[in-house]
Order: sequence, then C-alpha cells, then structure tokens
Amino acid sequence: MATATKSKSKAKSKPATRNKPKSFKWQKMAGKNDEIEYVIAKLGKEKFAPRAKRYDEEASFPFENYEDLRDTGILAMTVPKSLGGLGVKYADYAMLAAEMGRWCGATALTFNMHACTPLWTGHIADDLDMPAADRKQHKKNRELHFSRIVEEGAIFAQPFSEGSSAAAGKAPFGTLAAKVDGGWLLNGKKIFASLSGAATYYGVLCTEDKPDSSVRDTVFMAVPADAEGVSIVGPWDPVGMRATVSRTLVMENVFIPDEQMLMPRGVYYQAARRWPHMFLTLCPTYMGIAQAAYDFTVAYLRGDIEGISVKRRMYPTKQITVADMWIKLQNTWAIFKQATSEARVDPSKEDRLRAYAAQYSVMENANEMCRLAIRTCGGQSMLKSLPLEQLYRDSRLGSLMLPWTAELCLDRLGRETLYEPGETDDD
Ligand SMILES: Cc1cc2nc3c(=O)[nH]c(=O)nc-3n(C[C@H](O)[C@H](O)[C@H](O)COP(=O)(O)OP(=O)(O)OC[C@H]3O[C@@H](n4cnc5c(N)ncnc54)[C@H](O)[C@@H]3O)c2cc1C
Repeated sequence: MATATKSKSKAKSKPATRNKPKSFKWQKMAGKNDEIEYVIAKLGKEKFAPRAKRYDEEASFPFENYEDLRDTGILAMTVPKSLGGLGVKYADYAMLAAEMGRWCGATALTFNMHACTPLWTGHIADDLDMPAADRKQHKKNRELHFSRIVEEGAIFAQPFSEGSSAAAGKAPFGTLAAKVDGGWLLNGKKIFASLSGAATYYGVLCTEDKPDSSVRDTVFMAVPADAEGVSIVGPWDPVGMRATVSRTLVMENVFIPDEQMLMPRGVYYQAARRWPHMFLTLCPTYMGIAQAAYDFTVAYLRGDIEGISVKRRMYPTKQITVADMWIKLQNTWAIFKQATSEARVDPSKEDRLRAYAAQYSVMENANEMCRLAIRTCGGQSMLKSLPLEQLYRDSRLGSLMLPWTAELCLDRLGRETLYEPGETDDD
C-alpha cells in the first residue's frame, strides 16, 4: 500500500534504484529477478497502492491489479521458463512476493494462492518420488495447466480449509473425490476460498473416496470455476484482507477429467512431509506489510505524508520507537531470508524448525510493527484516509493462516524440539 509522500521526500520508495528493464516485453524478463522486482515495485507504487482503499471498502477483488499482472507477465512468474513463464523459483519468489505485499496485502496474498500451483506442481514436485508412469502423466498434466496461465491468463486459487482440522494436516479432508470412468466426481465444501468468483480454477484438496481412506489418500485437483455443480455461497465482510474475497466454495457432483489432477495420487501427502517450506509461502505478504508499516512511520514522522505536514521526528520517544521498529524489521527480514533460502526437499530438523520460527516471527511481527506504527504516529495516522489502519487490520490475520497458524507453530516447535520422531514418554 502506498504512503502518499510529498515529492520533496528523501525517503523515496525503491523503484528508482532498481534495474529498469530495457523493454517491457515481458518474456525478456525471464531469469532476471531484479527486473521483475522493478516491475512489481512500479506497479505496486503507481497502481496497486492507490487502488487498495477502494477494494478494502468494497471488499471487492482487485481485478484491475490482476489485469496488470497479466499484461506484465507476472501472472506466469513461477511457471518454468521452458514452458513460457518467468521461471522464478521458491526463494526468489518469496522476495518478489514480499515486494508485492508491501503495496497491497490482498493482492499479494491471493497472488500467492495462484503462484503456488506452478511452484508446487513444478520444481517442488520434481524433487519428490513418483513412479515413472505417474511422472510422465504429471508432466503432461502440468504442461496443460501452465499453458492455461501463460496463454489464457488463467488464475488458480487454493481453497483447502474446511473448518475442521484437515487443513492443519491432522485429519482427512471432508471433500471427497470418487474415481469414475475418465475422471473424478467431487463433493464437498471449502471455506475461506480466496479469489472466489475471480479464479478460473480452484486447486482443491480432497480425500479419495474409498474404504478406510486416510490423509495419505489426499488428491489435489484443479476444479474449473465454470464446471457444473460448482457454486460460491455466503457473505464476505471480514476485519481485514477484505479484497481477498474468501467466500465458500461448494462442489456438488462436479465431474473432473483425469488431466485436471494437479499431482498424482500420494504426492501431496509426500510434499507436505518432505517439502515443508511449501507452507511458508503465506509469509511474504506479511513481510511486505511489516516493511510498509515501517516505511509509513518514517514518512509520517518526517512530515512527508501528503496533508499531514507537521514533523514529529524530533521527539526522543518517537526516535526510540522507530529504532525499535527498525531492529524488529531487520530481525524479521533476517529469519525470513534465512528460512526461505533453506527451502528444499528433506530439510534438516533445524531448518524445519527455523521455518516454523520464521512463519511465527513474520506473522506476529507484522502485526506488532503496525501496532507500534499507530502508537508512535498518533491519532491522525489511523484515519481511514491513510493506509496505516488497513495495514493494521490486514496484518492481524497472518497468524490465523493454516496449516501454520502462530499457535500451531508454537505447538510444533514445543513438541519437535523436545521429542525425536517416534519418541514417547511411555515406559
Ligand atoms: C483473509 C483470509 C484468507 C484466507 N484464504 C484462504 C485460502 O485461500 N485457502 C484456504 O484454504 N484457507 C484460507 N484461509 C483460511 C485459513 O487458512 C484458516 O483455515 C482459517 O483461518 C481457520 O479458521 P477456523 O475458524 O476454521 O480456525 P481453526 O481451524 O478452528 O483454528 C483456530 C486455531 O486453532 C488452532 N488449531 C486448529 N486446528 C488445530 C489442531 N488440529 N491442533 C491444534 N491446534 C489447532 C490453530 O492454532 C488455529 O489458530 C484464509 C483465511 C483468511 C483470514
């Protein structure tokens, strides 16, 4: 989200310092992350941030932002270069997504649901074991899905949550997929389906409908938004992240052809256990929000916000708070960068625990940064005419995101630091 700074401000935002691409013909950006970052920062500052207030008020989806993401090729950011995308892999994606989150939290959070489909089915799936026939079929299926993004501008959502402990990985999903001739028949309901009404495909986790099915029988399917039996129901009027439009997705006898499988049988279960950092991708949005709260505070105290020209930077208590914010921000960036750089198949125990700690730190610190920003900037700073109060509301929701809510991260850390796998206290 933008902070409307005066033109004389020295606290300039990053785009001017970035590598400006020679051409905006987006295919040329493939493999050039600094150019992609430049485009995201420019879009963010000039377009996403000025639009954020309206989307927030209306709780409406940022369709215009997605048009911009399509036009610039960013929509295909995580599609491999060989298949026409920009070829951005996990750790670079995390940094680029944080830049997006700095300007519009809801755009970055929904974009994450979209970008994760190519990430998970692309280079993450390549790291996992699967029989040769499944691998061959998977490659064929994903080429189809990726081409829909590159050529048709398709948008993927990831509605997993059901209001049970399934999204926390503790129970099988209640949405069932029954194998039928040529495909699958899906029945179930997903709550908090971000991008509802905006996505072209909903990437849905289901349990294969068979006797004694367990979490091992989770299957990952792309459900076309216009498939017969798909409906979006219920209201959407939350405290924050309002532009994610996360309503309820209902599937009643929805037929899905076999090629709509996003991963072969058993591979999602394997991914969740062997590539745990796949769940850390909700963090970048909130890392960006933490940065935005700091940026706003500095501009505000310097008297650089349009319409609020009184300087407040000379007060020692405010200087101490900004110093505190800077330290917290740098600590948060440090663990975020460390943990995202360690993402790989079969990480060490320490790397896995650090990923939980990173998720916890980013989600909790983003909200803490916004709290400190409001306290030190003062009453006028939280008026709805300025972006800080929206940052505050949006930031509150990071620690609720399953499967790694703040509480579940603490829970896992407490247990996994003290117990090795399989250990109990039974004599
Ligand atoms: C803005 C927004 C957008 C979202 N978008 C999506 C989306 O696109 N796709 C999607 O799938 N979900 C999405 N979610 C949902 C989110 O990931 C959670 O599933 C949801 O917030 C859980 O709500 P709940 O009331 O069911 O909480 P619960 O599942 O009841 O969890 C409440 C708390 O209980 C704890 N808890 C839950 N289960 C266990 C357990 N088994 N053991 C121990 N503790 C547990 C957790 O710490 C959690 O914080 C979104 C949420 C928000 C707020």
